[in-house]
Amino acid sequence: MQIANDKVVTIHYTLTNDEGDLLDSSKDQDPLAYLHGSGNIIPGLENALTGRSIGDTFNIEVAPEDGYGVRDNEMVQSVPRSAFEGVDNIEPGMQFQAQSPDGIQLVTVIDLDGDEVILDGNHPMAGFTLHFDVEVINIREATQEELDHGHVHGAGGHHH
Ligand code: ZN
Repeated sequence: MQIANDKVVTIHYTLTNDEGDLLDSSKDQDPLAYLHGSGNIIPGLENALTGRSIGDTFNIEVAPEDGYGVRDNEMVQSVPRSAFEGVDNIEPGMQFQAQSPDGIQLVTVIDLDGDEVILDGNHPMAGFTLHFDVEVINIREATQEELDHGHVHGAGGHHH
C-alpha cells in the first residue's frame, strides 16, 4: 500500500533546524498517526510522504512557506499589562490563547516594556527551514468516522 489521500499514516520523525538543533521528535513516544490529505501536518511534510510505502526512510528540507509560515512582523504587538487580568507574573516565554478573526491564536510573550507586554502571534517555528528525518511505520485505510472527522482516532491519533 502506498501513501495517498484518505489513508491513515503512522510515522516516526525527527525535526531539526538549520543548525542541527533538535526541535521535536516522536522517537521517545508513540509514532505520529495522521490522516493523509487532510492538512493534519504541515504541507511540505505531507507532500513528501505521498506515494511512500511502509519501511521507507527519507530526509527532507521544508521551506518556511511549506512549514509553519514566514514570520510576519505585523503579528508582533504591544498590549497593556492590564489586559492580562488574573495573571500575576507575566514573563517572556509565556504563551496565551487569544481570540483573533481567524479563531484561537497562540501568542508568545517576547518582551516586557514598562506597562506594555510585547506579544508575538507568529508560530514559534515560523521562519524556520525544517529538516525532517522520517520513517514510515504503517499505512492503513481510514474508517468512515475518521474521514468524517478529518483526523485519526485510536493509537497515536486524536482521543475522545
Ligand atoms: Zn474525531
